[in-house]
Amino acid sequence: STVIRAEALGKTYAEGRMRTPVFDGLDFRVEAGETVAILGASGAGKSTLLHLLGGLDTPTSGEVYVAGQKMSALSDAARGQLRNRALGFVYQFHHLLPEFTALENAMLPLLLGGAATDAAAARARELLEAVGLGHRIEHKPGELSGGERQRAAVARALVNRPACVLGDEPTGNLDERTAGTVFELMLELNRAQRTSLVLVTHDRRLARKLDRVVELHEARLREVAPDQV
Ligand code: ADP
Ligand code: ADP
Repeated sequence: STVIRAEALGKTYAEGRMRTPVFDGLDFRVEAGETVAILGASGAGKSTLLHLLGGLDTPTSGEVYVAGQKMSALSDAARGQLRNRALGFVYQFHHLLPEFTALENAMLPLLLGGAATDAAAARARELLEAVGLGHRIEHKPGELSGGERQRAAVARALVNRPACVLGDEPTGNLDERTAGTVFELMLELNRAQRTSLVLVTHDRRLARKLDRVVELHEARLREVAPDQV
């Protein structure tokens, strides 16, 4: 089944009289369980596309459907709930809350979804163990290394069993070795949880490990065979 579907998607940023058209008429879909890389030069519109797919920003034209629901037809609250239930986000910056422990941070999506505290803690602990942070769950982000913070962000993204994880250069701030480890971990966990993954990256070596690669170039989305990347 299809997890995310974008139809004739267009985005133009408008600030006062300044207009920045990024793309128009993009069609894109993500099937259940598949992993897709979005490649493209800096400024091509990769983050813009990811934000639209995740309902973090509104398209200028076209529609995005997440888990069959038309995003533009939902209230802000309903869109927020759908995002929390169906999607997980991992960014270049971890966006963990500094005052909370790794465990509390990873529990948050569950608590926002109305889960009981005990159940949320058990599930968050399970995910933190899966990312290799079982011994760090009481640490706050400031007491974790960069790689550990991204692992905690990965745990948080998966804790709700989302249909799809959206990653915007999630390993972009890490040294090459740590980046490779965190990337492999994301792939492994996505497979184990049967979660789709859409990953924006500059890194062609990482991209070619995914099921599909698309390249955003001159406002067009082009499918690339992973062995041609
Ligand atoms: P990428 O992720 O591929 O580097 P982005 O999606 O960040 O590209 O940006 C695509 C284009 O849109 C760029 O020209 C960028 O400057 C512009 N842009 C991005 N965000 C905004 C914004 N909030 N307001 C105006 N222009 C923006
Ligand atoms: P950039 O695309 O410039 O690198 P980020 O990817 O860090 O920036 O964040 C993009 C936008 O998404 C920002 O406006 C940020 O406030 C918003 N954002 C980040 N995390 C979340 C989240 N978990 N839920 C909703 N919005 C978020």
